[in-house]
Amino acid sequence: MPELPEVETIIRALRPALIGKVILSADLRWKRTLASPSPAKFRKSLPGQQIQDIYRRAKFLDVKLSHAHLIIHLRMSGDLLVVLGGYQPGKHDRLLLKLTDDMTLVFSDPRKFGRVWLVEDPGVVFQDLGPEPLSDEFTPLWLHAALHARRRKLKTLLLDQTFLAGLGNIYTDEALHTARLHPLTSSDKITVEQANSLWMAIRQVLEEGIRRNGASIDWVYRGGDFQNHFRVYGRQGEACPVCGTSIERILVGQRGTHYCPQCQALPEEEMADLSVIHQKDC
Ligand SMILES: [Zn+2]
Repeated sequence: MPELPEVETIIRALRPALIGKVILSADLRWKRTLASPSPAKFRKSLPGQQIQDIYRRAKFLDVKLSHAHLIIHLRMSGDLLVVLGGYQPGKHDRLLLKLTDDMTLVFSDPRKFGRVWLVEDPGVVFQDLGPEPLSDEFTPLWLHAALHARRRKLKTLLLDQTFLAGLGNIYTDEALHTARLHPLTSSDKITVEQANSLWMAIRQVLEEGIRRNGASIDWVYRGGDFQNHFRVYGRQGEACPVCGTSIERILVGQRGTHYCPQCQALPEEEMADLSVIHQKDC
């Protein structure tokens, strides 16, 4: 699933092609792709609206139109393509937007988990999201306080979009390894120094991901190469780049979680809880 850096990469590629184009018509080919409003209202509202800009919020694309926002979440397999000239819709195309300059924006989504909203106020869709990790709002102080306000395993908490927006499985594992924190550490046990390391690690892995145009590990190839620079993600059995210990993989909240048992040791007082946590998670 694309995470913050992958969505950012897609937006940077779409912006020059789409800004200024006017929507001529909307062809919704799979009704459930549209979360809101009704298909009839959607088809009627879009024609004539100009694409003014494209922003990112968490893993959402926010296409600002003249009188509304078209919000897109790619989820597992969604992809956005800009096609020039006549276009023959493919089997997995869920939404086609015909644009000026003989252009079509194609939302293709084989697994059909992706969603689209057309709203006046994007806040309606984003209301439950936590802060953006690359914004000024996200500070080491905020992170320390927010971790202590909860008592959850770091991995599950960082994946929770209402806590912090934009991280997924890859960047969470990479950030925890960079910060030398065990994924099962309880959030309320994090010291000020550790929160500071985690804050820096989150920024660092996301910025590196963006710099490398994201990771291309999903079956939708997006051109990024961050997958060639993973420290732990998907590298179980291989050597930790820091200490050489074999990377391990466990399940945390049903998500494959990769870490170095040497660099990311669990504090001793939490070892006793480990078996309980494992049972609850698996
Ligand atoms: Zn290590």
